Amino acid sequence: MKIPKEIKNIIEKLNKTGFEAFIVGGCVRDILRSKKPNDWDITTNAKPEEIQKIFPKSFIENEFGTVTILTESEDETLKEIEITPYRIESEYSDLRHPDKIEWAKTLEEDLKRRDFTVNAMAMEIKDRKYKVIDLFGGLKDLKNKIIKAVGNPDERFKEDALRLMRAIRFVVTLDNLPCFEWEIEERTKTAIKENAHLLEKISNERIRDELVKILMSKNGARGIEILRRYGLLKYIIPELEEGFGMGQNKHHIYQVYEHMLLSLNYACQKDFPLLVKIAALLHDIGKPRTKQGEGPNCTFYNHEVVGAEMTKKILERLKFPKKDIEKVVKLVRYHLFYYNKDEVSESSVRRLLRNVGPENFDDLLKVRQADRIGSGVPKAEPFRLRYLRYVAEKVLQDPISVKMLKVNGNDVMKILNLKPGPKVGQVLDILLGYVLNDPSKNDRNFLENEIKKLGQLSDTEISQLAQNARIEREKIEQKRDEMTKQKYWIS
Ligand code: ATP
Ligand code: MG
Repeated sequence: MKIPKEIKNIIEKLNKTGFEAFIVGGCVRDILRSKKPNDWDITTNAKPEEIQKIFPKSFIENEFGTVTILTESEDETLKEIEITPYRIESEYSDLRHPDKIEWAKTLEEDLKRRDFTVNAMAMEIKDRKYKVIDLFGGLKDLKNKIIKAVGNPDERFKEDALRLMRAIRFVVTLDNLPCFEWEIEERTKTAIKENAHLLEKISNERIRDELVKILMSKNGARGIEILRRYGLLKYIIPELEEGFGMGQNKHHIYQVYEHMLLSLNYACQKDFPLLVKIAALLHDIGKPRTKQGEGPNCTFYNHEVVGAEMTKKILERLKFPKKDIEKVVKLVRYHLFYYNKDEVSESSVRRLLRNVGPENFDDLLKVRQADRIGSGVPKAEPFRLRYLRYVAEKVLQDPISVKMLKVNGNDVMKILNLKPGPKVGQVLDILLGYVLNDPSKNDRNFLENEIKKLGQLSDTEISQLAQNARIEREKIEQKRDEMTKQKYWIS
């Protein structure tokens, strides 16, 4: 893995001015496992003002004294590079923010405040030589795929309870290799379970950001299940646990919670968009509260309506953007659409499109696929779904009609001095025929001229031409339908 020249330049400049500087944290971890880092962090013994003096194109962003350097790089991850002075974190009386930020004198002090051993390594870059500074066994843990707190895990989680979620986030995001999953070290694991309740003190925005990172990964569903096993899920989405251990009726082989997670898992495996994943996870969230009866004949009437309301509350609580909430709520509310071929009429599809919004239709079908696979049904997109897609495209297509023309009935009546009657429509039909043959003819001047020419013809001639034009148009419509059918493999 090559270190970009932008990073090397910054380190070199700091060194030349007499300061220590290292790349540190997640980017060192990622280089060592041959992954491109999401962002680059540099740490130094220079103070913010000293850094800014060396790099005038920079700004101070946060209360931690981080200086952001602007580079000219084309690479998104290198446009802004953060340099943070060595620091110590002292008391966290609110369990969120350190009470005061103190600069540290040594790199060691700075590494000590970092959360996990694999995130607490630094790398020295001097004269093209790289040296890893690993004070807490991060290299070994990286090799064995172990998340282990730096220092005393109990104290570290008490300092900042978001680390409880970060531990699980790293377990699911660092790799996706089956058989080689990351694990949490025993003492760290125990401390997570014991301190789970501290998550209550963490702001919903920070919780949301970690949750999103978990869901973005291929292992998102595994992440949710680990959160549950470690007692964290009830501080994030407690509603999910209502379905834990709850059986369904004879149409289902999985329990409610299992089914929601398996649906999410399919969405994660397929790399569906984040909001589709959230909808897949929450689509049956209303089931526990609507369950009636027990055993093979129990029912969940209206669970999609109750589920949509619950989804709204959950996502509002987690401070998701309003637009995203609206979308996921719709996906949950309408996930139960019928799609047996006989039940799919153009009007029912039109209604579904109106309800969920044409822009969300594809995603709704993705949720439904996830739902199907999550029920243990092997095929995600049978003929029925393709047929539904076909009808949807058909009803969304602009109708071929005289409304497309740049002239209308009034123009015809004015130019030919006619009263309303069948002849007006016939003239328009003829004009539409011209335009369908050659779209460039849909021009006001041209069409007005043609109207004048048609005025020279007899009524019988006009009626005959209009008749021919309509037959031609039907052929074009049929051809278009054939093409749509072919697109969806409907014969
Ligand atoms: P990502 O790949 O998502 O960027 P990262 O490990 O780089 O993961 P960041 O949130 O970018 O995580 O933070 C950079 C580094 O800062 C971490 O690797 C870790 O050393 C330290 N760090 C971040 N957040 C915390 C925290 N809450 N407690 C302790 N150290 C933290
Ligand atoms: Mg990072």
